[in-house]
Amino acid sequence: MSLIVQKYGGSSVADAESIKRVAKRIVETRKAGNEVVVAVSAMGDSTDELLDLAHQVTPIPAPRELDMLLTAGERISMALLAMAIKSMGHDARSFTGSQAGMITDARHGQARIVDVTPGRVRDALDEGAIAIVAGFQGFNRGTGDITTLGRGGSDTTAVALAAALHADICEIYTDVDGIFTADPRVVPKARKIERITSEEMLELAANGAKVLYIRAVEYARRHGVTLHVRSSFNNNEGTIVYNATDEQNRERPVEEPLIAGVATDLSEAKITVVGVPDIPGKAAQIFNIVAKTGANIDMIVQNVSAAATGLTDISFTLPKSDGQTVLTTLTAEQTDVGFASLQYDDQIGKLALVGAGMRTNAGVSAKLFTALYEAGINIEMISTSEIRISVVTRADTVNDALRVVHTAFGLDADSDAVVHGGSGR
Ligand code: ASP
Ligand code: MG
Repeated sequence: MSLIVQKYGGSSVADAESIKRVAKRIVETRKAGNEVVVAVSAMGDSTDELLDLAHQVTPIPAPRELDMLLTAGERISMALLAMAIKSMGHDARSFTGSQAGMITDARHGQARIVDVTPGRVRDALDEGAIAIVAGFQGFNRGTGDITTLGRGGSDTTAVALAAALHADICEIYTDVDGIFTADPRVVPKARKIERITSEEMLELAANGAKVLYIRAVEYARRHGVTLHVRSSFNNNEGTIVYNATDEQNRERPVEEPLIAGVATDLSEAKITVVGVPDIPGKAAQIFNIVAKTGANIDMIVQNVSAAATGLTDISFTLPKSDGQTVLTTLTAEQTDVGFASLQYDDQIGKLALVGAGMRTNAGVSAKLFTALYEAGINIEMISTSEIRISVVTRADTVNDALRVVHTAFGLDADSDAVVHGGSGR
């Protein structure tokens, strides 16, 4: 008997009909002789609707109360799903995050899982029931309060349950057929990836691919959980995300594709610190100030200093949501650091090309830059890792950039990808 964890996103349980359809799928998995644990998201866009509601009441909702509110979304879908399964003659039991033992730290809205004690889930399985767990929510022992794991956190719930219960596989059901070489909503000729390493998937997720959340991929990688990302709208095989260092995967011929996929991200902004004295310690000073804000810095570029002035410019990218705080904090330290001014640019787009095969291939950046040049797209920043090359362009050219790069690397499929609707979650 296998233990299968299945996660259904909001678009898969958007209304009563969808819930019945998903219930049928779950029952089929159970009837095939598997133990089944389900992590479920809130119906459709209901998390966003609850957030809107909170902001209609107050511009700055209290974090504890916001978590109370948002976790109601998953409580609705889990109960409806359990009812639907029961009405089909199978035993099912729903559990909130705290009942399922998702123990987190106390950070409301962004809690991290510190322990998983799924005793009640295990008991339900032992009694032959299907366990339905509310995604995205946890519980802090110190405060005794309900927490949430950050947007898209149901993926993390599923992976954490799979790890704690030693599941054979963790299936992530969504509204596309798997992970694609690019977002099929932007690149219709995007190709479904059959297998991808968790290392590559992490880079794609960190660079804007929304099909899986980065924290879920990190958790899966750390705990050796194999993921199967697939559509809840058909029975097609999806994409396997595996740990290339796992014993069971080591024997497989790991033929690393040159490029796994291309991701884009429009959520970042660029700050340029203009006229920084080109002497040791200035970068340290600037980024220590930035670090205090907790902002996640992504790309950093420092120009060669103009010899005549002894000054240099330092640019970096960061989430737009952190932009204002970082600007304010840096401005407060302007005289101390001694820079001339700050520039803020929120009209940037980032494109990242990811592939484990890059490690051993020299021509990748040349090909990327040539494709962008031929499309008349200007590159503003470049950064690389062993398995990734990222460039920053103007925001309004990034989708064109995505399409030409996808074609240039021979990733286009023969036919268009099927998107079943929804927002990609
Ligand atoms: N419902 C939550 C959200 O929309 C969690 C999830 O969907 O995974 O962010
Ligand atoms: Mg959702």
